[in-house]
Amino acid sequence: MANNKYKIGTIGSHSALQILRGAKDEGFETVVFCKKNMTPVYKSFGVADEIIEIKDYSEVFEQCSDNIIMIPHGSFIEHIEKLKEMKGLYYGNKEILDWESDRNQERKWLSNAGIKLPKIFQNASEIDRPVIVKFHGAQGGKGYFLARDEQDFKTKIADHPDKKYQLQEYIIGVPMYIHYFYSVIHEELEVLGFDKRYESNVDSIGRISARDQMALKSVDPSYVVVGNIPLVIRESLLGNVFDMGHKVIKESRKITKNGLFGPFCLEGVLTPEQEFYIFEISARIVAGTNPYISGSPYSYVKYKEEMSTGRRIAREIKQAIEKDRLSEIIN
Ligand code: ATP
Repeated sequence: MANNKYKIGTIGSHSALQILRGAKDEGFETVVFCKKNMTPVYKSFGVADEIIEIKDYSEVFEQCSDNIIMIPHGSFIEHIEKLKEMKGLYYGNKEILDWESDRNQERKWLSNAGIKLPKIFQNASEIDRPVIVKFHGAQGGKGYFLARDEQDFKTKIADHPDKKYQLQEYIIGVPMYIHYFYSVIHEELEVLGFDKRYESNVDSIGRISARDQMALKSVDPSYVVVGNIPLVIRESLLGNVFDMGHKVIKESRKITKNGLFGPFCLEGVLTPEQEFYIFEISARIVAGTNPYISGSPYSYVKYKEEMSTGRRIAREIKQAIEKDRLSEIIN
């Protein structure tokens, strides 16, 4: 079999269980690089043929070899500089990382693609509607706060001296995360699923009555992601969903040589007028695909088998190997 020559590997966290399960289902041997405390996890689930213990994730990039195809996920992005220099085989387009990881570049990409984005206010004096204040480098929405006007912002930002932030229009609607896959081998955009994030404490503030919130005083919303909840959207919205995905792919080919391919996610809010506002793109597998390790309703309709995003990646790699086209999807 063509895939005997290559193993599939990843860092042991984020969506590794899904990636490794999918790789094994497609007939690959698998390798996981993980911290010592995670070894029992990957042993227990039986998805890793080889477990390599590391002290820090950054060590992974020195240990890659020419027969392990590394699948990136959220834990890789924290080490973006090392990742860019990484030798060995990387699934995806490294050029896109610079666009994904810089808020200004990302915005340029999405707006040139014709995607609706929340307005950005350069100065607090321009605030004319509710804003969400996002700190640079914040992970998982930690510390974000809402402000209704300039005065409110000034009062709240006083607690965060010296921090860099972005003032973004707060879109009233429901958060929604769209899981796409673009296949180079089939030249096709696929929608594999949707999720919404379970964020602490914003998703539970409604359990406290307004009267008690006022009494408690200190209840400000925070957006720390602690889990992901599966979601199926109104079917009539799917046309828009595909349209946005195609636009993002088309624009990605103008800003980089090979464009975006494989799994990616548009992250945004859907308003009562049924308009999508996108505030972020992740150019890789997202943890929101984890509820679908045995497939999503959408992947079932398309594949009639258990097709997770992790398995879809492995299938693409397998077909690329069989058609001698691996170089088109490996950096
Ligand atoms: P990560 O990079 O880990 O996904 P982050 O720190 O970049 O997280 P965001 O995803 O930008 O954080 O935002 C966190 C949460 O804040 C979102 O899930 C959503 O609930 C809310 N949010 C972000 N931007 C907006 C917006 N413009 N309008 C309304 N809600 C928003």
